[in-house]
Amino acid sequence: MISADARRAPHRGWLLWAVYGVLGAVLLAYLVSLVVRADNSSELVDGWLVAAFEFVGSGLCFLRAWLSPGRRAVPLAFGVGTLSWAVGDLLLTMESSGGATVPTPSIADVFYLGFYPALYVGLVLLVRRQARDVTSAMWLDGIVAGLGAAGVCAAFIFGTLVRTTGADPAAVATNLAYPMGDLILLALVVGVSAILPGRRNAQWVFIAVACAVNAAGDTANLLKAPGGDFGFATIFDAVAWPTAILLISLALWLPGRGKALGVAHKAPGMILPALGAASGLAILLFGSFHPVSAVALGLATATLVVVGLRFWVSVVQMRALTHKRHRQAVTDDLTGLGNRRQLFYLLNDFFADAADPTTPRRDLGLLFIDLDHFKEINDSFGHSAGDELLRQLGPRLIGSLRSTDVLVRVGGDELGVVIMDADIEYATAVARRLIAKLEEPFVLDAVSVRISASIGIASAPTDAGDSAGLLRCADLAMYRAKLRASSYETYRKDIDEDGNRLRLVEELRTATQEGRFLLHFQPQVNLGTGEVTAVEALLRWPHPRLGLVPPLDFLPLAEEAGLMPLITDWVVDQALAQSATWRAAGRDVPVSVNVSVSNLLDKRFIPSVSEALGRHHLPGSALTVEITETSIISDFDECKRVIGELRTLGIGVAIDDFGAGFTSLAYLGTLAVSELKLDRTFITGIAEGADRDLALVRATIELGHALGMRVVAEGVEDDATLTVLGGAGCDIAQGFFISHPMPAADLVLAAVVVSGPPQLSVASNAG
Ligand code: C2E
Ligand code: CA
Ligand code: CA
Repeated sequence: MISADARRAPHRGWLLWAVYGVLGAVLLAYLVSLVVRADNSSELVDGWLVAAFEFVGSGLCFLRAWLSPGRRAVPLAFGVGTLSWAVGDLLLTMESSGGATVPTPSIADVFYLGFYPALYVGLVLLVRRQARDVTSAMWLDGIVAGLGAAGVCAAFIFGTLVRTTGADPAAVATNLAYPMGDLILLALVVGVSAILPGRRNAQWVFIAVACAVNAAGDTANLLKAPGGDFGFATIFDAVAWPTAILLISLALWLPGRGKALGVAHKAPGMILPALGAASGLAILLFGSFHPVSAVALGLATATLVVVGLRFWVSVVQMRALTHKRHRQAVTDDLTGLGNRRQLFYLLNDFFADAADPTTPRRDLGLLFIDLDHFKEINDSFGHSAGDELLRQLGPRLIGSLRSTDVLVRVGGDELGVVIMDADIEYATAVARRLIAKLEEPFVLDAVSVRISASIGIASAPTDAGDSAGLLRCADLAMYRAKLRASSYETYRKDIDEDGNRLRLVEELRTATQEGRFLLHFQPQVNLGTGEVTAVEALLRWPHPRLGLVPPLDFLPLAEEAGLMPLITDWVVDQALAQSATWRAAGRDVPVSVNVSVSNLLDKRFIPSVSEALGRHHLPGSALTVEITETSIISDFDECKRVIGELRTLGIGVAIDDFGAGFTSLAYLGTLAVSELKLDRTFITGIAEGADRDLALVRATIELGHALGMRVVAEGVEDDATLTVLGGAGCDIAQGFFISHPMPAADLVLAAVVVSGPPQLSVASNAG
């Protein structure tokens, strides 16, 4: 067990152990000589040689200090302490040279006693290096132990000793000081090793043994003083201090414990202060029956005062620790925001208040924010980029909140905002502000990424009566927002509630079996000619209670209930029927239908589609199948195969919602797709002169063309966007500006162009 520094220089380690081996042997020889010589003391051996031995031990402490730059304080303190003792021995030897009797106390005692404060300081510094939080209680524990022991000595032992040894009270007091000092050190060492986490450490064991040996030796000295004749005690007294000094210097070369990783510090034990308090009280109690010296009473009182101080320090530390733990418990490490636990604390408080009929009603809004495509950011740019993005969220969003609103990270890429005293309108306004903030680009390392988010809004006490319930409501609303790509949604009992969901599934099953759906069609216009080149079929569910239910409200339910194959069959059939009707009227209008990934992976899909084409006497080119970018990448290889098969049947395949995710077009380019549909979010803003956005759209269009795809822009809501898209080379446009989706009977299929691009303008009969 050689410390790291010693290990780095093997020769030095070897030499060191040789030195300690020799010193150990010398000590053993000295012990033997003491036994052999019985009571015949020798000035040379017991005086000069012992002092020399101690100087060597002390010198090794200083050597240790010299060899450990930056960590010198402890070995220096130990060096000073042991040196002080060695000087004391030297002085005593000089004074008693030639058999002179030295009075106690003498000048040597001053140096002997100098050992204690130096070692005390060294020990405390050593503790501080290994366990930072506990030192003030430690200092005080040592003092309590010392004062308590001194008090007990003064009250019970001092008088007895003066009587039995017949010694001068000053000498007794001086000799008493040594074992007391040893006890203080021992108390400190034992107290420390009790609270340091992890295994007992050799360094501390050596120091503890040294203090114990000293305590025993000094007690022996006390009992024999002066000139008493206890053979064994004399030997013990003589050998104790050289041994202790050797052990202390040796301890400095042993590996320290270092700061324990991942292990909680135990709280400082209460044994020492309790013992101190007990001894102080015992003395005071004893003093009320028997005469006790003023010194003893003073010491007892001082002990109790320090014990009080010690408890006060503990309470303060404990309180600080509790605060710290609480803060840690409710803080998210990565972002520094509150965490899920804090969210629950807040909500629980709110609901506890709300349950109290005497408090006025308050409303609370909860926003549940989920980032879209966060996983893809992690996958494409690395986890550190993902973490960095999460870290930027807090500072960015907090600016849009009031100081009383609380932003927490619920987990992963989910955030929550608690808004007190807010109705649903206010909460919605906040959601809109946050969405706008989130849509500004994030700069991560070298890249700048854009994200979007889906926010679910719920309000209490309207939507739920407890924290978990409220969170679930907000979560459901968020889920709906995600499905509808609508950035935020508020909780709606009629749609989101569990009981309703079951009922809704049953109603949906019946509607599917009976084909009670509607198709709306949205025209796609050729930007060059203004002609309607195709229509997209969009599903609606007319519901007796809920009205016309939009697809994203019920398709997830259908997916869960395994109704997708039937529904898609119905959509394909109805869409082709409509196309056949137009064809019969002399209009060739291909239809696009949306299919989910479960359709695509269904073995019966292709046969059923080609059957439908046959049934309506239509070529494959009358149909385009739209698949979203995200569903393709969920099972790329299988999708690639199915897409290939569809294309061989002459059926068009479009990548839908492109640009809402982060997939690279080069990757999708290996698919045999015929059409690329740019997502609405991808093209918004291009008309407002954001050059970067426009450049990206332009490049995407060019790449799409290079890969042999027709490029369709979706969600065109204004003239300006349409114009810019025409200029950027986009082939086809679709959107509210051209026409809302509507029943086939209401659709105007005439060419809508009055003049060519870029002055394309569109007439629409849609409101
Ligand atoms: P999608 O395929 O991206 O369809 C376009 C959606 O955007 C439609 O919503 C349409 O009404 C809306 N939209 C069109 N132009 C604009 C515009 O200018 N501005 C804005 N803000 N929105 C516009 P809809 O009809 O609610 O459909 C939503 C989604 O539901 C569709 O998104 C599609 O993914 C899915 N869907 C619709 N019908 C079917 C279907 O028959 N089968 C499957 N599997 N999914 C369908
Ligand atoms: Ca679509
Ligand atoms: Ca789309």
